[in-house]
Amino acid sequence: MRPPRFTGSFTQQLPLPEDAIAAAEAVMRSGRLHRYNVAPGEVSEAARLEEAFARWQGARYCLALASGGQAMQIALRAAGVKPGDRVLTNAFTLAPVPGAIASVGAVPVLVETTDDLVIDLDDLAAKARQSGAGVLLLSHMRGHICDMERLAALARDCGLRVIEDCAHTMGARWNGRRSGAFGLAACFSTQTYKHLNSGEGGLLTSDDADLMARAVLLSGSYMLYERHGAAPSAEVFAEVRLDTPNMSARMDNLRAALLRPQLARIEDSLTGWNARHDHLASRLGAHPAVRMPARPPQESYVGSSIQFRAPALSAGGCTALLAAAAERGVELKWFGAAEPVGFTSAHQSWRYIARHDLPQTERVLATLFDMRIPLTFTLDDCDLIATHILGALDETLAEDVR
Ligand SMILES: *Cc1c(COP(=O)(O)O)cnc(C)c1O
Repeated sequence: MRPPRFTGSFTQQLPLPEDAIAAAEAVMRSGRLHRYNVAPGEVSEAARLEEAFARWQGARYCLALASGGQAMQIALRAAGVKPGDRVLTNAFTLAPVPGAIASVGAVPVLVETTDDLVIDLDDLAAKARQSGAGVLLLSHMRGHICDMERLAALARDCGLRVIEDCAHTMGARWNGRRSGAFGLAACFSTQTYKHLNSGEGGLLTSDDADLMARAVLLSGSYMLYERHGAAPSAEVFAEVRLDTPNMSARMDNLRAALLRPQLARIEDSLTGWNARHDHLASRLGAHPAVRMPARPPQESYVGSSIQFRAPALSAGGCTALLAAAAERGVELKWFGAAEPVGFTSAHQSWRYIARHDLPQTERVLATLFDMRIPLTFTLDDCDLIATHILGALDETLAEDVR
């Protein structure tokens, strides 16, 4: 007998905590939603968030922005990337990453993915030399972190500056050090499906005063950079203030007010995600046809989603698995599909960039499945979901001949 269909929603996040709602209400009652609209002596919610996030992340500077995508675009521009420059990035990532590179007129150079879903460091070294790129936009896609010591050594050897896309690694660490603390700058998203939820939003961190001064000006500071919470001192701006365009990508006080109370409790969320993720991973990983990506001991991840491969399945088998899971109420995503579906996309569908030959990534993505793990799921829900995925997989394997 098949267990009951799962009826939870894979896109339903937790409601916002009451103190976040109260803080947002106070901003609305004040009418001062714009980050630079402050009463005498008042420090805006946006500035307070920057200060709190910089402290939590262990970064000298932080800038609150309209989205994670804007954080990447501004980081690239502030790092001096010019139209026509080549920028290395992961072939396995999501659309805002090549999109950020394209937005500055630069040319994405896609790097292969390993079976463990991280950037292939050998391919990176080869492409860094061939392309002459000076910047790597490193996407810690779905929270999988490559060997960061090896990456840092390679970046040094190849003269690469690294901007980290931490949309899926807010709160994660490599060898005890926070993801985002390795590169020149790090970009975070506070879009609803990430680790903090303000609908849309982004945070950029860096220890580099010059880069951050440019980033603040680019974000649209109207020369009010002294009203920031974790920005360089005014002298640093003097150098660049008139040479840097205003690109209007600020965060407002309402979103910042929603985020600060969530940041104060983020450790509870991280623990909650990992409990759910690890339960799913241990059940799925026990099936002989399932390959879970390795999690090296140096990596402290945040399991807000889960990935697994089923290498024995054909393309038709993968489609059948999606359908069999959906019939049981389980929403899997498949990175091998020919067309982008929902938030899933693959490099072939970024037709505005040159077609890349990426046999290894294509092989990995061909049988790669992905699932969100919202905190509204209980551990019992996760157990039922695992039972359904394994049931759907057995059914599919029985019919699929590769
Ligand atoms: C969500 C996401 C971003 C940033 O996205 P926004 O929606 O612009 O905040 C960047 N990289 C990856 C891999 C993402 O999933």
